[in-house]
Amino acid sequence: MRCPVCNFYDTKVVDSRLLPEGLSIRRRRECEKCQFRFSTLEDIELLDLTVVKHDGTREAYDRGKIETGLHKALEKRPYTAENFQLLLHAIERDIQKRKKREITTQDIGEIVMNRLKGFDKIAYIRFASVYRSFEDVETFQKELGKLLSGKSARRAASKRHADTRAAKRVKKLL
Ligand SMILES: [Zn+2]
Repeated sequence: MRCPVCNFYDTKVVDSRLLPEGLSIRRRRECEKCQFRFSTLEDIELLDLTVVKHDGTREAYDRGKIETGLHKALEKRPYTAENFQLLLHAIERDIQKRKKREITTQDIGEIVMNRLKGFDKIAYIRFASVYRSFEDVETFQKELGKLLSGKSARRAASKRHADTRAAKRVKKLL
């Protein structure tokens, strides 16, 4: 593999690590010319997976579509390329764990949201608001409130005005 900095043709592996589920390997590499270190992630491709869309049509699974959605949700948010790869990886492992040859776009969306929630809350809200198109303002505000403060989530019903303030704060961030 070429060095991403100086483009030298050879890099050596300095460390290999099998990730917890045993389904992928992360390699630390070092450029033999400029000593730049980087890591690569080798994992299983999701082949033979069919995605069933809302209208019932089917298409082959395409990692690129999830990547595009994630990049959109994470626009201007702080994250590293490596963490992004790990996020994508975790999402695909979740899909794989279902052990089914078909998955609905809705199920993929839920898996992505689930992982995004722990990765970046703002990105999660962006993704969820597009994806789930919250039925009404109240549901959306509840969701925001839950995210912004564990405490206010527990008191959500009686303290709706707190959630509304939280929603306004987040709107500014978005
Ligand atoms: Zn180099």
